[in-house]
Amino acid sequence: MCAEELRQHSINPATLPSAPSAEPTRHEFRTRMNTLPLAPCAACGKPGITTKVIDAGDGPHWLDLCWPHAGETSPPHPHGPTTVEEILDLLREVAKEVAAEMGLSVPLHIWTDQEGWHDEYFG
Ligand SMILES: [Zn+2]
Repeated sequence: MCAEELRQHSINPATLPSAPSAEPTRHEFRTRMNTLPLAPCAACGKPGITTKVIDAGDGPHWLDLCWPHAGETSPPHPHGPTTVEEILDLLREVAKEVAAEMGLSVPLHIWTDQEGWHDEYFG
């Protein structure tokens, strides 16, 4: 997100909290996302449920956004999933990673037109 995009959403980069680096680790991202209360959306002040790091010219800063503002400010990923099966495959991959990293069993409760509701467990 460039300085102009920040201005379009009334985000003052000087008010954004400093990030530990330009490329935080997954653990640093998860810690930021899972710490309550959630950091406020930089655009509207509602609970921010997404975060990323930007550098508006004075070092890395967290940019916490609510879902609506995250959707408005994020272009679709050029290699992101585009079909339901691709999205489910990505979800399964993330569940496997979380299960392995946290040492937990991660249940997924999935509904599809073909199978209806079914459960899958990872870990
Ligand atoms: Zn917002």
